Amino acid sequence: MPQMLIGGELADASGGKTIEVRNPATGDVVDSIPRGTTAEVDAAVAAARKALPAWSALAPTKRAQLMHQAAERMKAAVPEIARILSQEQGKPLAHAVLEASRVSENLEYYAGLADKIRGDYVPLDDPAKIGFTIRRPVGVVAAITPWNFPLTLMANKICPALAAGCTVVLKPASTTPLATQRAIEVINGAGFPAGVLNTLHGSGAEIGDALVRHPGVNKVAFTGQTETGKRIMQLAAENVTRVTLELGGSDPMIVCDDADIRRASAAAAIGRFFNAGQACLAVKRVYLFRGIAEEFTAKIADRAAKEWKTGNGLAEGTKMGPLHTEAQRAEVEAQVTDAVGRGARVLAGAKRPEGKDFERGWFMEATVLADVPEDSRMATEEVFGPAMPLFIVDDLDEAIAKANSSVYGLGSSIWTRDLAKARRAAEGIEAGYTWVNDIQVAYDQLPFGGAKQSGFGKEHGLEALEGYLEKKSVVLGTG
Ligand code: NDP
Repeated sequence: MPQMLIGGELADASGGKTIEVRNPATGDVVDSIPRGTTAEVDAAVAAARKALPAWSALAPTKRAQLMHQAAERMKAAVPEIARILSQEQGKPLAHAVLEASRVSENLEYYAGLADKIRGDYVPLDDPAKIGFTIRRPVGVVAAITPWNFPLTLMANKICPALAAGCTVVLKPASTTPLATQRAIEVINGAGFPAGVLNTLHGSGAEIGDALVRHPGVNKVAFTGQTETGKRIMQLAAENVTRVTLELGGSDPMIVCDDADIRRASAAAAIGRFFNAGQACLAVKRVYLFRGIAEEFTAKIADRAAKEWKTGNGLAEGTKMGPLHTEAQRAEVEAQVTDAVGRGARVLAGAKRPEGKDFERGWFMEATVLADVPEDSRMATEEVFGPAMPLFIVDDLDEAIAKANSSVYGLGSSIWTRDLAKARRAAEGIEAGYTWVNDIQVAYDQLPFGGAKQSGFGKEHGLEALEGYLEKKSVVLGTG
């Protein structure tokens, strides 16, 4: 059974309790993990605090070297870790391989920045004084991650944190701790000093809460639901702990009447059905110009029905795994039922696949709905599963207004050959990202983060590193 990593040692929970991790495709137990308590929270934070002075003072090139070595180790471990990820999360093995590979890419990107952190020289009016700024790591980081992309979202936090000279206490989702724990052990094996990287496993409500409100934590980097993010923000206020919140989304896609419908429909299908729709950046609302609505609708319904083969993540040819939990599937089914009850038309899916292979897992077919009412749950809530609502609009003003009608503002996209339309969308949509004629994929080099209730603070790019550093002003009197 995997354990927690605290102060360089593998540890069990003091209460001796464990949590079973199940495969969403079969219900079988994949493995168990210790159910940590507040005693382990205290121990992990103490270990991270103890390691902080030496780690933050280490030569930046040494930090970079360790991260490059960790990246090499992670590359070699991809096959092993991807298999664990597929089993505990449900995603197809090929997609788990992509995700596991992202960890070494992220390590390398931030390793390259570790020795490029610097301050400014600032001339002051008084010639006898010199002003400058220095950059200090924020300190101990609590990284809390969800179950949909456990490895990517872990790497998004620990890589810039390590490069900045911070130490980390990581708490993955309690339903997907296994691949993360293994990845951290592999990374840590590169030779990080004890206490630089620590893991805790257990219930978010218990140890997650205790970690966020711990006075020894200087920053919380969180990805998860908006409701959990609100709670974390409240708890963090107790000690004025810094927070980065990457929360829910309901990304709009606008397809104009001059769009390339073949490419737009392919991007919509990948955007909605990849990871069984359980992605923050998924295409969650599609606004079609009336002139192309019929053509787009036929293409997307066809793609949903024919291209998104559902199955066990480890089975050959599976393109879409099950939903991650029974509750998650029940939620998406209820959202679909609500829309259909209010008059939406089912163009594809809206049911569970039948057959022996699907009896024990949380499977759902790729679903497309037309005539979805604007006040239905699929329009107003985040739909975290493989169900796509289509809406029709008459012009770009209406499309942008409807795109902005959500409380969320994470990603967005527009398909058009008209640069003026693309520019209006890029400037007018309230979101952290707009893709023009391109698939919704986040890039290491570009800052990623939400607007409105999708959160604040950035992951990726130089901006993520900034989030783990504080700028300090220094005045040097030379008189
Ligand atoms: P949750 O908010 O339920 O959980 C996320 C993490 O927070 C888990 O590790 C969970 O632990 C922990 N947690 C739960 N309660 C607390 C608490 N009170 N204090 C501290 N930690 C707590 O999110 P999901 O796992 O359901 O993830 C799906 C959500 O994540 C979706 O809304 C999705 O849009 C969003 N997301 C956002 C992204 C972005 O970048 N903006 C990217 C990916 C996903 P436990 O598992 O033990 O409950």
